[in-house]
Amino acid sequence: MLRITVLGAAREVGRSAILVANDNSKVLLDYGVLLKREPLFPMHVKPKDIDGIIITHAHLDHSGFVPSLFVSSTPDVYATEPTFELSKLLIEDMLKISGFYLPFEYLELITMLKYANKKEYREAFDVKDMRIILHESGHIIGGASVVVECNNKRIFYTGDINLNGSRITKEADLDIGEIDLIITESTYSMEDHQPREEAERTLIEFANDVVERGGILFIPAFSIERAQEIACVFQAYNFKHRVVMDGMALKANEIMLRYPMFINNVELFSNALKNAEWIRGWGDRKRALNSPCVIISPAGMLVGGASIFYLEEIADDTKNGIAIVSYQGENTPGRTLMNERIALIKGKIMKVNAEIRRFEFSGHSGRHELFKMIKSIKGEPKVLTVHGDHDSCIKFADDIRSVVGLDAYAPLAGEGIEL
Ligand SMILES: [Zn+2]
Repeated sequence: MLRITVLGAAREVGRSAILVANDNSKVLLDYGVLLKREPLFPMHVKPKDIDGIIITHAHLDHSGFVPSLFVSSTPDVYATEPTFELSKLLIEDMLKISGFYLPFEYLELITMLKYANKKEYREAFDVKDMRIILHESGHIIGGASVVVECNNKRIFYTGDINLNGSRITKEADLDIGEIDLIITESTYSMEDHQPREEAERTLIEFANDVVERGGILFIPAFSIERAQEIACVFQAYNFKHRVVMDGMALKANEIMLRYPMFINNVELFSNALKNAEWIRGWGDRKRALNSPCVIISPAGMLVGGASIFYLEEIADDTKNGIAIVSYQGENTPGRTLMNERIALIKGKIMKVNAEIRRFEFSGHSGRHELFKMIKSIKGEPKVLTVHGDHDSCIKFADDIRSVVGLDAYAPLAGEGIEL
């Protein structure tokens, strides 16, 4: 008997965790956190029962709780090499800035990395009697979707998936054969994205407008992928003005530059980073503001980092601009800025006069691509919809049943399926 249990990301975005178990083996696919005012964790598993953990990609909602399994045990962990390096960067940062309780410390992160097994895409490997294969997911560098083979069944877990890839990532690899169960993300299952070309072109037009009227364009962006993706867009359009990068994005740049084989367009990527100015301290940071330019800096939702400094410096002047290029979570400073044009800086509410515009650069598949993916998969798979908000997961499962004719369900945490 093969049992698949959803331990997290059940009708919500965050804390992804799937347990695949038969009579002999237990494998965990992702073990992430959900960062709200305080972090939320997936359902508990006994670390000593786990034979292996697969991390699909470095984002904390997939990787962030894995070290907790190393407090009392030492299971093997499997992922691509960039996923391990970028997970380390993000989990270290979470431990550093976390003002709340986490049930593990730096030591457990280091132990986790000692038990790291670096895997290539399409390199099949065994965890006891389960055969695992990672496939390119197109979502971020090193990101993978997972095929698990056991008990004569084949499970496909998308992780976060972007069918089309991006300027940095290659297309998702859906050459996965016949499948009995799909566990799919549902983040944007209810909407289609603005076409990428349109997002790029309008961002460049906005940047030219702002810089040519003597202003500074500030782009808050996540340190991994989005910051570099935006730098690549400026490079691809031969943007004539200065592009500045700051914050943890620079550490991510250094890691990503070491993995050219994972990058879609290596020349564009390396030129984009070479031509950008890297901020190395407060002197650089202040000088950057002396003349019109584009500044790309985390945090993507303006929750901290150098983004607060830049926002304060540019907020007042109408000739400046702010380009929102990432999803802004509920109750984040970024969402408040977008909706109310105000920022809370050093305890004071500040009205923002700079021009604010929003552009869609999602790293996830939209509705159209998710359906294309499900229709393209061979076999008569059952489908579980996870990693979407409550209504999206339920409606996506309804639509898969009625449009594609497959048996689909949006599980609650702790629910699962037997194959
Ligand atoms: Zn992700």
